[in-house]
Amino acid sequence: MYAAPAMTDFVFDPPQRILLGPGPSDVPARVLSALARPTVGYMDRSYTDLLAALQVQLRGLFRTDNTETLTITGPGTAAMEAAIYNVVEAGDRVVCCVHGYFADRMRQMAERCGGDVTVVSADWGKPVDADALKAELARRGGAKLVTVTHGETSTGVRQPVADLSAAAHAHGALMCVDTVASLGGVEFAMDDWDVDIAYTGSQKCLSVPPGISPISFSPRAMDVVRGRKTPCASWFLDLLANLTVWERPNKYHHTGAVNLSYALHEGLRIIEEEGLGERIARVQRTAEAMWAGLEAMGLPLVVDAAHRLPTLTTVRVPDGVDEARVRAELMSGYGIEIAGGLGPFAGKVWRIGLMGASCSARNVLLLLTALEGALTEQGHGVSPRAGAAAASERLNAG
Ligand SMILES: *Cc1c(COP(=O)(O)O)cnc(C)c1O
Repeated sequence: MYAAPAMTDFVFDPPQRILLGPGPSDVPARVLSALARPTVGYMDRSYTDLLAALQVQLRGLFRTDNTETLTITGPGTAAMEAAIYNVVEAGDRVVCCVHGYFADRMRQMAERCGGDVTVVSADWGKPVDADALKAELARRGGAKLVTVTHGETSTGVRQPVADLSAAAHAHGALMCVDTVASLGGVEFAMDDWDVDIAYTGSQKCLSVPPGISPISFSPRAMDVVRGRKTPCASWFLDLLANLTVWERPNKYHHTGAVNLSYALHEGLRIIEEEGLGERIARVQRTAEAMWAGLEAMGLPLVVDAAHRLPTLTTVRVPDGVDEARVRAELMSGYGIEIAGGLGPFAGKVWRIGLMGASCSARNVLLLLTALEGALTEQGHGVSPRAGAAAASERLNAG
């Protein structure tokens, strides 16, 4: 028999962290207070006005004129599913560029949609080669979709996209790009690079809490979505149904994440105030300072400078160092969260994020100092203050 428990005396009081992992990133107080504004109904005029404003902001963020620019209710993975499930039907040929964990997640989704999937792969830590994609598209013919991750969070690679788009279009395929770990932190130009479908998440470079995800579809992608032979296999993520809310906002499809929309709007205002270009330049400068610091500490970076993603850096763990213990030390001593490696990088790399509000000179200097302490504690020699000094020098030079 069910017995009602006594009222819980558990009070949730989350600690204040410094989030320097692959996401989420630190959320500015302005965004948190936007989240706390009164919840309105999804048919409320004020919410309708907000969606219209958000759409304009999101076009600016993706750098696109696409009418079909909206948010998906859910984390970045939900937007990834919206991208794949609305395009791929059973038997469709899909070429997935796979150079890490998230690129592979797109492949898994394309397979679940019944796609006839082939892969163009690159070693972890390297980008996918456009010539390899061209060869695969020519070999197979008739591909409907090409997928890739712009900022591959598992490896720290920044994938050049424009050449892949050109190859996809030369073979009549749509180009779908995951920008979850890059948009708002690294240059991305949806229209100039001829990308057909792009999506992101809220909790990485936008510094908004997780749970709402921007996505945009080009006119060419919309023709394909509207021309499907079968309905989208996901009821919830069906793009045409989701779009009715944005086109005629008093239509009901599902209850949108009303308060997260407030937060996203505020997060995008912060980006607009700084200027997207200025923000991207600042992230690059801050990352370069951190890279100089890590190298001065004798910690090798996994990805070569030409393809290094400023918003997520992979660092090789030196021999004899317990990587998990270093992370535990950063957390207990400083409240700093960084991440370990995934898949083939497990136990071998640290992943350090400089996303959104977490990306600051202050955090870089703190991290390098904390890391020096954690390494020294394990008997791994680091010349005192070398990391922070090299990073400061770079920051001051810039
Ligand atoms: C984090 C991430 C995702 C998944 O986003 P969630 O919000 O965790 O679902 C997808 N792609 C990339 C590149 C990411 O970094």
